[in-house]
Amino acid sequence: MSRARVLVMNSALGPLDYRVPHGMAVEPGSIVIAPLGPRQLLGIVWEPEYMPSDAEVGDNRLRPLLGVVDVPPISAAMRRLVEWTADYYLAPPAAVARMALPSSYAMEGARTVTEYRATGHVPDRLTPQRAQALERIGERQGLVRELAAAADVSDAVIRGLVKAGAMEAVEVDIDSPFPLPDPDHARPALSADQRAAASVLTGDVAAAAFRPTLLDGVTGSGKTEVYFEAIAEAIREGRQTLVMLPEIALTEPFLGRFAARFGCEPVAWHSGLRQSQRRRAWRAIAQGQALVVVGARSSLFLPYRNLGLVVVDEAHETSFKQEEGVHYHARDVAVMRGKFEGVPVILASATPAIETRQQVALGRYAEVKLPGRWGAAELPAIEAIDLIQEPPERGRWIAPRLVKAMEETLARREQLLLFLNRRGYAPLTLCRTCGHRFQCPNCTAWMVEHRLVRRLACHHCGHVEPTPRACPECANEESLVPVGPGVERIADEVKALFPEARVAIVTSDTIWSPAKAAEFVGRMEAGDIDIVVGTQLVTKGYHFPNLTLVGVIDADLGLDGGDLRAAERTFQQISQVAGRAGRGAKPGHVYIQTHSPSAQVMQALVSGDADAFYAAETEARAEAGAPPFGRFAGIIVSSEDKACAHETATLIGRSAPEVDGMHVYGPAPAPLAMLRGRHRFRLLVHARRALDVQEVIRDWLGKLDWGAKVRVTVDVDPYSF
Ligand code: ADP
Ligand code: ZN
Repeated sequence: MSRARVLVMNSALGPLDYRVPHGMAVEPGSIVIAPLGPRQLLGIVWEPEYMPSDAEVGDNRLRPLLGVVDVPPISAAMRRLVEWTADYYLAPPAAVARMALPSSYAMEGARTVTEYRATGHVPDRLTPQRAQALERIGERQGLVRELAAAADVSDAVIRGLVKAGAMEAVEVDIDSPFPLPDPDHARPALSADQRAAASVLTGDVAAAAFRPTLLDGVTGSGKTEVYFEAIAEAIREGRQTLVMLPEIALTEPFLGRFAARFGCEPVAWHSGLRQSQRRRAWRAIAQGQALVVVGARSSLFLPYRNLGLVVVDEAHETSFKQEEGVHYHARDVAVMRGKFEGVPVILASATPAIETRQQVALGRYAEVKLPGRWGAAELPAIEAIDLIQEPPERGRWIAPRLVKAMEETLARREQLLLFLNRRGYAPLTLCRTCGHRFQCPNCTAWMVEHRLVRRLACHHCGHVEPTPRACPECANEESLVPVGPGVERIADEVKALFPEARVAIVTSDTIWSPAKAAEFVGRMEAGDIDIVVGTQLVTKGYHFPNLTLVGVIDADLGLDGGDLRAAERTFQQISQVAGRAGRGAKPGHVYIQTHSPSAQVMQALVSGDADAFYAAETEARAEAGAPPFGRFAGIIVSSEDKACAHETATLIGRSAPEVDGMHVYGPAPAPLAMLRGRHRFRLLVHARRALDVQEVIRDWLGKLDWGAKVRVTVDVDPYSF
């Protein structure tokens, strides 16, 4: 090959042609160093026919490639996945390819990494900085940079500690293989239903062909045990499995559970890893040595050498939808990965998305069902508490019937969980005297009071300020009042009601790392916690046999905003949180506090008739032409300059092509009209299913020009509509 088409890592550009110098060997997938203007960029060699440019440059005028990186080439299956993702989500191919490209560290040849750890020796000169570093580092080990970041000191402080003998170097082998899971280490005796389900899934792994399957089983039915059998089959065949979880907080409990079944932990992939761990994992994955990998979204684009199975657990979870950069849905891209690799994909969920159910109905996905809980466990009984008929006491949020149930549960020495999907103390802080409210300076959002850390925080951009003592408007000192509850406020109420009880708050503020999640699980299992007050973080995956009562503080919360997905989302969330109750031998009970007990979703939750609920929802979607029967795409126009954003959005709206079966709404202020200091407008494109809406949008936006001050992002299959 004397010339090569290269996808350089610059999102503004498509593939470019380069000359391949004599003696340099490249093939499609090779990672190369390419000159671009005065810079050198990484690129991936692509098939020459990928997106041919109209202006072919003669061979002799091409710039030469500068080098080939010594890592395995990006496989053909990965290249097809990148092309598909870029096409489908209308994203620059380079932006997608970047997710599949190894980080720079993976391209270094070294076999070891030098890390540092404390020796226990206290240096003679113990400056406050050094003391802080030693205290915060504790047992931790890592690169100088990582330790400095963890201790919030400069690199020089760490290096000083090394010189003073308080820290020492450790050579970490990043080439050592991971232990191999043993498929027969501790095989459970499966129930008849589980056995039937498992045999279908293991058959698919043995057949080694693309086949997506919905593993649809109620909470506690043993879905994990069942897909573990499919993983066991892949392990026996020496092929790799990717298990995707919606949240890194869930990886820690998963690791332990996996180790109990297979004798060793799988390889974890998430943002909390140290660099040496990432390097080791990346290489073992690329070599095919790491047989089972568990991770969040980013594990989808790793270079598995010999993939045999993809599992997406809690497949209905909204956190699989990426809302920044490339707006992709990891569940859907996981299915496509299975397709390009020619391997089965298991989507496990107790509350599958309507889109997934529709794929089953159309015969595109297979379905395997687990109708009942495993063993003696029964699904919990669910009761609604009508907040109008049985209101809580003034200034309180927990209704008397729920308080009584809590009392009884505690008396039986069982654990209970109160669920409210709102972090912080109160969603709004108000001055009683002048009416002042605290708004985020960067977003259209109220600042939320977090009393534990005495701050007001914006949940959209992360802006924080100390909670003021007086109103900044009228200077009144005692007039600021919290309005409405967050989990911290519920925890206060719980402590006032049950002063003896041990209460844990579980939100992303308190469980911000896998280690914190592990600590929480440990305390629950040891019985050191009586009452958990938590957000959606506690609704997922956890299995606590002694947890028998669940109270949903505000079941109506998710119904606000009125988008078409609200009822489905509420049904899923409350079913999941209810599913935490009564998973062991003791029966569970769930109370849902609501102002609208007659709403269809509340009735469905109480009666447990998921099929009827889904049927009605599906019909409503069909009538509205909403997904999966029709499609949406959002076009989001943002700029720091409001007039600019509005002008461009209007221009885009006016240039909308007339297409049969397509309708464009807006522009209107986007759901968050201002976010991180940028003003946002949204056009919503609604199209019938069969229309290639991506093609239409590509054409339409391709003809327009807007200045550098404006950013236009397309969100295909937006989560809310
Ligand atoms: P799901 O993922 O469907 O919510 P899990 O796989 O977490 O259900 O199973 C719920 C509980 O039941 C877990 O503690 C699991 O270990 C246990 N369990 C399920 N099936 C079996 C089995 N066949 N043998 C032993 N324990 C099982
Ligand atoms: Zn903000």
